Amino acid sequence: MASPSSWRIMPKQQENNFTPKPTVSTVGISIACIMGTATEKDQVTADEKFVRLLRQNKLKVTQPRLGVLKIISEKETAISQPELERMLGDAVDRVTLYRVLATFEEKGILHKIFDLHGTATYALCSTACDEHHHHDEHVHFICSSCNNIYCLDDIKLPKINLPEGYQLQSVGINAVGLCAECKAHK
Ligand SMILES: [Zn+2]
Ligand SMILES: [Zn+2]
Ligand SMILES: [Zn+2]
Repeated sequence: MASPSSWRIMPKQQENNFTPKPTVSTVGISIACIMGTATEKDQVTADEKFVRLLRQNKLKVTQPRLGVLKIISEKETAISQPELERMLGDAVDRVTLYRVLATFEEKGILHKIFDLHGTATYALCSTACDEHHHHDEHVHFICSSCNNIYCLDDIKLPKINLPEGYQLQSVGINAVGLCAECKAHK
């Protein structure tokens, strides 16, 4: 994975020096940076994959939706709305982004995890998730140093046997510690 720190703040810094680009191309710029070494062919394949995913969920293919999917799928860690907002730049306004995330969560495309500060972050769902039914039954690792959240897909949640009369809605287990990168630089 490329180090995200260099490009994450780029669009905002450029604001004072450059005339803003047309809305649509702002997404293109961010994505080009994120895709890094990906070839044009890879990018087409990724686009097609996201278009298919949206259609499967009976969602209209829009630039904000594609932009969010691209950014999230390129990131190893869960991502918060403010972070997504920074990366998308002026291409997507806050209300639209809020709606995209809410729709994706409802459709079983993204699942929400709260970080140590209580901020909601989002990660891609497993294919087992569908509308109104999430099956992301894995442990989340939260780094206490960088606050990054990782989906530990291989570590499954235990089966919860509730007393009679109780109804289970969701189970979440967070493991907190140092991620490999923070541990290495400690
Ligand atoms: Zn899910
Ligand atoms: Zn860390
Ligand atoms: Zn997860």
